[in-house]
Amino acid sequence: MTKLEIRQIPVLNDNYVYLAREPNSCAVAAIDPAVAGPVLDEAKKLGWTITHILNTHHHGDHVGGNLDIQRATGCTIVGPGHDPERIPGMSVQVKDGDTFKLGEAEAKVFFVPGHTRGHIAYWFKDSDALFCGDTLFSIGCGRLFEGTPQQMWTSLSTLRALPETTRVYCAHEYTQSNVRFAVSVDPSNKALRAYEAEVADKRARNIPTVPSTLKLERAANPFLRADAPDLQAAMHMQGRDPVEVFAEVRRRKDTF
Ligand code: ZN
Ligand code: FE
Repeated sequence: MTKLEIRQIPVLNDNYVYLAREPNSCAVAAIDPAVAGPVLDEAKKLGWTITHILNTHHHGDHVGGNLDIQRATGCTIVGPGHDPERIPGMSVQVKDGDTFKLGEAEAKVFFVPGHTRGHIAYWFKDSDALFCGDTLFSIGCGRLFEGTPQQMWTSLSTLRALPETTRVYCAHEYTQSNVRFAVSVDPSNKALRAYEAEVADKRARNIPTVPSTLKLERAANPFLRADAPDLQAAMHMQGRDPVEVFAEVRRRKDTF
């Protein structure tokens, strides 16, 4: 069993790019490189050579560094086979249920459409690490640009079912504004209120709130709780279809 070493690189306004190194093979993946320069610089500082790029979806703030990093390193670009046209430089396409090996570390691929029609997530089980792009955020989820509430609820339900110790390496530091919204729909959620204080403290000191854990997200993220009786009651939607409740949470967030 091999565990990844993971480094987090804040870029642009609020994006996180990750470098993940598998120590036995020295394979290194850059995950959703929004930009090339800071990612190449960080790898150089660590003495790591990027061998792979793993993309979750086609948006510019996730693939913007692909071609420059590939030119600089000759790395292999891995991305969603569900979206073959829109990932710059992709040569390895992975799909739902596939496994991908970064050196000796194995990732399982999940197809998680909703934010975009081709979005995937990578789960490195032995490292307890989920790279979920813009599908699941801490206390939030991605906007539905190309998918339906049904698709996104199904995608989030897949991720929610992973072990509670899973660390959620999402691609944005949106937590504080997500929390502000979440308390408006779920004001008496104790786990959420405790996290609200923790997040305020961390952000005041410029400390990332990411990664969070699935345990926390299950307890406090309203987008994962559309089937929870207490959230449904707080929203005056008791007994309704979770897809309807999810759609309403998403609708309220879009106009918050
Ligand atoms: Zn996106
Ligand atoms: Fe994004």
